[in-house]
Amino acid sequence: MNGVINYKKSVWVALNGQIQVGRKPNKNGAHARGWNSKSIGICLIHDKGDKFTFPQKRALNNLLEELVNKYDIPVKNILGHCEIDKKKPDCPGINMEVFRENFKEFIKRRL
Ligand SMILES: [Zn+2]
Repeated sequence: MNGVINYKKSVWVALNGQIQVGRKPNKNGAHARGWNSKSIGICLIHDKGDKFTFPQKRALNNLLEELVNKYDIPVKNILGHCEIDKKKPDCPGINMEVFRENFKEFIKRRL
């Protein structure tokens, strides 16, 4: 991972699982309207219609685990874009309830 992640940054996860920290190249680095100063935006890069790759999912779990521990974030506060912005109903296109449950299991297995 390059760079330190804080609440002003966005994190990008490439198809091969590679993680990059920084602002969106265009616009002002905003990832979610009204949430930019109090959240960390994580974007999984993919082509429209394509599913996320396994390396991406693995990288996401590892990244989230690191952030949850570092900033003491409750798992319930891991939100999909769709959950905080009605204009983004398809982002990230997965069931977030299920995702959070699976993530809790992922963390438990590591303890
Ligand atoms: Zn989004």
